[in-house]
Amino acid sequence: PTAHIGVTGLAVMGSNLARNFARHGHTVAVHNRTTARTKALIDEHGHEGNFVPAETPEEFVASLIKPRRLIIMVKAGDPTDAVIDEFAPLLDEGDMIVDGGNAHFHDTLRREKALRERGIHFVGTGISGGEEGALNGPSIMPGGSAESYKALGPLLESIAAKAPDGSPCCTHIGPDAAGHFVKMVHNGIEYADMQLIAEAYHLLRAVAGYEPGRIAETFRSWNTGRLDSYLIGITAEVLAHTDAATGRPFVDVVADAAEQKGTGRWTVQTALDLGVPVSGIAEAVFARSLSGHTDLREAAAGLPGPAAGGLSPEAAEEFADRVEAALYASKVVSYAQGWNMMAAASSEYGWNLDLGAMAAIWRGGCIIRAAFLDRIRGAYRADPALPSLLADRRFADELGRAQDAWRAVVTTAAGHGVPTPGFAAALAYYDSLRAERLPAALTQAQRDFFGAHTYRRVDAGGSYHTRWSGDRGEERTG
Ligand code: NDP
Repeated sequence: PTAHIGVTGLAVMGSNLARNFARHGHTVAVHNRTTARTKALIDEHGHEGNFVPAETPEEFVASLIKPRRLIIMVKAGDPTDAVIDEFAPLLDEGDMIVDGGNAHFHDTLRREKALRERGIHFVGTGISGGEEGALNGPSIMPGGSAESYKALGPLLESIAAKAPDGSPCCTHIGPDAAGHFVKMVHNGIEYADMQLIAEAYHLLRAVAGYEPGRIAETFRSWNTGRLDSYLIGITAEVLAHTDAATGRPFVDVVADAAEQKGTGRWTVQTALDLGVPVSGIAEAVFARSLSGHTDLREAAAGLPGPAAGGLSPEAAEEFADRVEAALYASKVVSYAQGWNMMAAASSEYGWNLDLGAMAAIWRGGCIIRAAFLDRIRGAYRADPALPSLLADRRFADELGRAQDAWRAVVTTAAGHGVPTPGFAAALAYYDSLRAERLPAALTQAQRDFFGAHTYRRVDAGGSYHTRWSGDRGEERTG
């Protein structure tokens, strides 16, 4: 055997990953259920490095140096189980199966446990950056055992994106499903980021009266500051693009119904199970789903909105600056929520996640790469047990400075009838967390009234019930 690593599943992601390994000097075994794909890869890209094509699983496994390192890059879900069932019997103790697909972390927990019992390391690995990233450097989030990372880490780090400081965007995330979990949260944060950017665009268009070309310029200038990120960059590109067929701004010819593949939804479902408020991600998932409900939108199309006037050019410029502040502040809140979710899962599943590490490996290769992540890394470096990003002095100061503009934007948006679920939810989260008293006291009293669910008092320990339907006396219940 001569191959350092093998890739089975040679659709776009698998072939690009295999080429990336080969280009970095590793000998790569390649296999695909339909052999035509394997042949096509060798015909078109065989000259890029050392490939060992295999027609059968047996041939593929036999070509790998022990302990074997095998990456599965097939359709997520049942196909992944089918491929595991096919290959696992051919492997020996100590071999490693890496699942680089977008698996749900519950599936990864199940698969890891089953394979561990057979002495095989199962390494659920999040890979971000799409097909371009797979070829030129993705952000890689491997879970699984620390032992497997010793054998896999150097290979994975060699093909990963490099952060601006040159460090690889790959690190051992934690045991079993930790890698797929943080990849899911990454995607959830990506949904929130995209929604916030969309709201900023909508406000600049509908309230400031800017045309898409002008908004592209605004985004470009934002991209030189604290909002510097891949997503802001591509937003400017999209907004500056003109549709060839009609000569209209491209954004105006795209149907306004956003689709989703499901990782955002998984993030919110999981957050509900963990009891972590991720309102920014949830609003983003709901906004996409709402946009696709043509039936509901048509039924409501005639409802009245406000008669709001336009802004003067000076007022529009001032407003645009405020939108930048609101966007930044809301973004900080979304990231804070995403990080809280990772912290909660870390305790729930015993992963012992290094929360700063995620910020480090998302600085390159992935969709949410941004200058800003260095700041998050710094915050967790200063205090690894930081309860929330909002508790970091620098972020807290920034939100404090942004809050007037943030409030003004949400107010103006409501006044003009422009929906900003992301900005508004982020502001509500900020105000909820900093509130001295929340109306949750009233909620508890109501629960005790109709269901005898009991409440705690601010001035004494224990739990209490008031006899609401009787003499309204209070009794201690625990
Ligand atoms: P697809 O998700 O389209 O999957 C196609 C591949 O799966 C083909 O190689 C196909 O083989 C194989 N396959 C499907 N069913 C089976 C089966 N029952 N047994 C064996 N092989 C099977 O490919 P992509 O390259 O788009 O994605 C691969 C994985 O990467 C997916 O899990 C996807 O979610 C994830 N992904 C990740 C992205 C990222 O940015 N991280 C982006 C895109 C995808 P055949 O040729 O024989 O049909």
